[in-house]
Amino acid sequence: MKLLDPIVAWRDDISQIRRDIHAHPELAFEEFRTADVVAAKLEEWGIEIHRGLGGTGVVGIIRGDRPGERAVGLRADMDALPMQEANTFAHASKHAGKMHACGHDGHTAMLLAAARYLAQHRDFAGTVYVIFQPAEEGGGGAKRMIDDGLFTRFPMEAVFGMHNWPGMAPGQFGVTAGPIMASSNEFSIVVKGKGTHAGMPNLGIDPVMAAVQLAQSLQTIITRNRNPLDAAVLSITQIHAGSADNVVPNHAELRGTVRTFTLEVLDLIERRMEEISRHTCAAMDCEVEFTFQRNYPPTINHPEEAAFCADVMRDIVGDDKVNDHVQPTMGAEDFAFMLQELPGCYVWIGNGVGDHRAAGHGLGPCMLHNGSYDFNDDLLALGGTYWVQLALKRLAKP
Ligand SMILES: [Zn+2]
Ligand SMILES: [Zn+2]
Repeated sequence: MKLLDPIVAWRDDISQIRRDIHAHPELAFEEFRTADVVAAKLEEWGIEIHRGLGGTGVVGIIRGDRPGERAVGLRADMDALPMQEANTFAHASKHAGKMHACGHDGHTAMLLAAARYLAQHRDFAGTVYVIFQPAEEGGGGAKRMIDDGLFTRFPMEAVFGMHNWPGMAPGQFGVTAGPIMASSNEFSIVVKGKGTHAGMPNLGIDPVMAAVQLAQSLQTIITRNRNPLDAAVLSITQIHAGSADNVVPNHAELRGTVRTFTLEVLDLIERRMEEISRHTCAAMDCEVEFTFQRNYPPTINHPEEAAFCADVMRDIVGDDKVNDHVQPTMGAEDFAFMLQELPGCYVWIGNGVGDHRAAGHGLGPCMLHNGSYDFNDDLLALGGTYWVQLALKRLAKP
């Protein structure tokens, strides 16, 4: 493994920053302290910063000593999750109900390591923007930074993202061209009937019956309308109706999520859901209120950048440690918004199975969004090295 020596030497420093952020988790758009820590470190290392994009976002600007107009962006996320940490080791969360269970503390630390290195080794042409964004976990912080002018105020030719991946061995990377994470979308279908005495259903209109039929019929979109070669999930996760055994309620509500890898499939599913909802309810004499909320688009890696990232990885860890056809997941990621604007690529870095965790960790698996999760500090030097090599190679690329 070809790690950059200075970054390896900073291990304790960077790990301390990571653990400090882990101990002080902040939720979406509330990353005030975290942004202060990031900004203070960047300034300490002589890096020009801009704050306030997307609320708490921080952008660091590292210009090479040699003249060059080209620029590239590296992005990390800073937010934590609204959940209780099960770990009790020293750097466990000090804030009840908040936890860095997705490793964004590690993502921030890896990018800081790279920024420090680049600031001290400016023998390159062009500019590297280090982007620390708020609110990846559902808040669309990436979108907010873009809306605040991220790519117009700081023009760059490509942007790159990275996420730690539990289950994948440390020292390994995963990437694929095309979709790597799914679009995430939520829906609500309110079926409106007419309540009545349950012993005299003929006097009302039963919304429960319509809701049950609807729940079944909606799955036909996945089995009958969707091209079987296109991945898609439609999960109804909530059905609410009624309050008594002997009362037919006025209305029923179905809620759930839809995941797809392309916007075309998403368009199809949304259109068919609306049609089936409207017609099924009409057939049962009910009215319907259909709401479909698109949250994150699919994260789609640009093929050229995906191949480039795989090359950068292979140069660091060797051919056999890079899976460049990694299987995508139905999770979602707001880096998708950045990849809609610019060429770029989002990759996974193996976080291991959890045996890196300090004594006092929770008894659960070291999985993302699990109370027993912890980022693997062994990745700090590798992730930092990857960021540096990626930026330098991209800027030097003809
Ligand atoms: Zn997450
Ligand atoms: Zn995450």
